[in-house]
Amino acid sequence: MTLFEKIIAREIPAEIVYEDDLCLAFKDINPQAPVHVLLIPKKPIPRVGEAETEDQALLGHLLLKAGAVADLLGVKQIDKGFRLAINHGEHGGETVPHLHIHLLAGRPLAWPPG
Ligand code: AMP
Repeated sequence: MTLFEKIIAREIPAEIVYEDDLCLAFKDINPQAPVHVLLIPKKPIPRVGEAETEDQALLGHLLLKAGAVADLLGVKQIDKGFRLAINHGEHGGETVPHLHIHLLAGRPLAWPPG
């Protein structure tokens, strides 16, 4: 069971900000911005490049809910804004093998990322 599956199962505590039958959003334990939330599918897909055609609706659901969570956290307005990031594999910076979308906001974010 991955760390994030344990969070879904409430075996490890997390500050949950949104949940529905398909996904969970909770605060990152090591925030890189004033707002840093992880949005994960409840289905344990290891990483985005391993999602299957059958996951198409779930992936769309996650992006729609990322916008909804940004709204919930007060960062959706165009004069504020947010960034979504998905890390895949070593060079991508992935450390937890359960697909997650980082939602970062609350300060201007540099581009390109490091
Ligand atoms: P990544 O490096 O893209 O795989 O992202 C994994 C993220 O999970 C990192 O930003 C970590 O800070 C975060 N993280 C690790 N353990 C926990 C935890 N117990 N609760 C919340 N976030 C966590």
